[in-house]
Amino acid sequence: MNRIKFVNLYFTDLIGVFRSTSILLSNDEDPSSVTALFDGSSVYGFLDISFSDVVLKPVKETEILLPWDKNVYGYIAQVYLPGWKRLDRDPRYIAERTEDIIRREGYRSVMGVEMEFFLFEKLKYIVEAGRQILEIYSAESPWTDNISIPLKKGYHIVESIDRVAHIRRSIILALHEAGLNTVKHHHEVASSGQVEITSNKENTVSLGDFIQYFKMIARKVARMHGFEAVFMPKPIMSDNGNGMHIHVSLWSKNINLFYDQNEKYGLSQLARYFMGGLLDHGRSLSAIVSPTTNSYRRLIPGYEAPVYLVWGYANRSAAVRIPLANKDKGLATRIEYRPPDPTANPYLAASAILLAGLDGVKKKIDPGDPIEENVYKMSAEKRKSLGIRELPRNLDEALDELESDHEYLKPAFREDVIQTYIELKRSEIRELAGIPSPAEFLYYNLI
Ligand code: GLN
Ligand code: MG
Ligand code: MG
Ligand code: MG
Repeated sequence: MNRIKFVNLYFTDLIGVFRSTSILLSNDEDPSSVTALFDGSSVYGFLDISFSDVVLKPVKETEILLPWDKNVYGYIAQVYLPGWKRLDRDPRYIAERTEDIIRREGYRSVMGVEMEFFLFEKLKYIVEAGRQILEIYSAESPWTDNISIPLKKGYHIVESIDRVAHIRRSIILALHEAGLNTVKHHHEVASSGQVEITSNKENTVSLGDFIQYFKMIARKVARMHGFEAVFMPKPIMSDNGNGMHIHVSLWSKNINLFYDQNEKYGLSQLARYFMGGLLDHGRSLSAIVSPTTNSYRRLIPGYEAPVYLVWGYANRSAAVRIPLANKDKGLATRIEYRPPDPTANPYLAASAILLAGLDGVKKKIDPGDPIEENVYKMSAEKRKSLGIRELPRNLDEALDELESDHEYLKPAFREDVIQTYIELKRSEIRELAGIPSPAEFLYYNLI
């Protein structure tokens, strides 16, 4: 008797939640040809209940077999309205349209991502988060009962101290079994359990697919080890947060157009204009790449997270960085955009970054001179005299910026999608604003 097989069809809603439905596969049926219907009004930002039927159609190239159950095929699906019309606000479709635009302009994109997240012992920090936050405020040496590494001292520690290296490897093996390549991994700067895994992808669509599969697989494998993979940008006060730095270069066939061997740092004029666009639109981009109230707890001085809209070479206080810039870098020349964090919808984030950069290219926006100083330590007067702008201080401010600056997104994002996104995020802010925080007890119990 044949074993029953299943097909999971995955899609991403407007704020980035990865979802799936599962279909039983009958004998000899091609798994990549199944389709499924779902209710588009029950996910963030798709449809109204009065007109809610949508259909999922698998994309063959995204096929995986679930590493923990080989009877299950998985596909990322495109979302259609009845009659096979694409749903405009399917985030993957927005990324597909961005790629079309890039192709039309005569380029192809090469992307990379650094996934940072925490591996916490299950439930310990999640369920008891409130109590633990109270301890952080009151204790001199927080977390001492279960963590032996001081805050911000965990970078590249070896396996005898790194308590999660084996989980990281399990995650990477599971990803590779599913055909998802990664490049390298290490313990990150935060005290304990913060890790980074990096990967390269060919474009915004495949980058989005990779990140969504990555988070699902990392969470599952972590749970199988009794841990929880936490992608929140700033789970621990006074320690480094989680970024999701995105690397970009534009190519024409096998030529990296961001590289110029005659320039001191190997950086082309096209790359400079692209950075000009990123910096110019950086404040509104934040609403998409740093899209949660927690995102802005990460974007503060002192934790290697960007705060200022400047670019630099090795400068980790800058929003835009050129990794290992030098004249001989050649094909590896790329721009690293550091504001994104792992709560961003990856399809929207990658698309918005490319569209901001392309706008810079189109308008020939000059990014100014690189800043090589630690901007965290620069005086406010000096920042002012250099005209250095800051990223928004909170999500509301970022949404205000998106409201007034989104023409550059219009080639791939329809106006109503942007408006729905802003409404969803404003209501998220309102809901969270109504929840008393444990830290408030500490501050306001004194008064
Ligand atoms: N964790 C830092 C961030 O929030 C980055 C640290 C690093 O990769 N050097 O962006
Ligand atoms: Mg890194
Ligand atoms: Mg890192
Ligand atoms: Mg980085």
